[in-house]
Amino acid sequence: MESFFVFIGGIQPRRVTVDPAPRRCPRCGRLTATLQRIDHYLSLFFIPLLRVKRGEDTLVCSRCGEAPAAGSGPEPDATAARFCRFCREPFPADYVYCPRCGRRM
Ligand SMILES: [Zn+2]
Ligand SMILES: [Zn+2]
Repeated sequence: MESFFVFIGGIQPRRVTVDPAPRRCPRCGRLTATLQRIDHYLSLFFIPLLRVKRGEDTLVCSRCGEAPAAGSGPEPDATAARFCRFCREPFPADYVYCPRCGRRM
């Protein structure tokens, strides 16, 4: 006998705080960022039932929003990017702190 499902709802994103400890935001350099993740849940009647997709851990700053982690997201513009002089990680020119090693430029 085949079972069938009636979906009332759908896939809903949910923001999850991975680590509430404040971290240094690579963009503004303040300790106002926390590690968060956006998971996608299958929800039924607006109640999340099942996690269908686990998001990437992302630093989210309360002042400047999401700060993309090193190596993820769209490639920064080559002319705008700088390289960390400590670990040679490329990062956007408006960053004050290296997103990889956290040292100030
Ligand atoms: Zn910030
Ligand atoms: Zn670095």
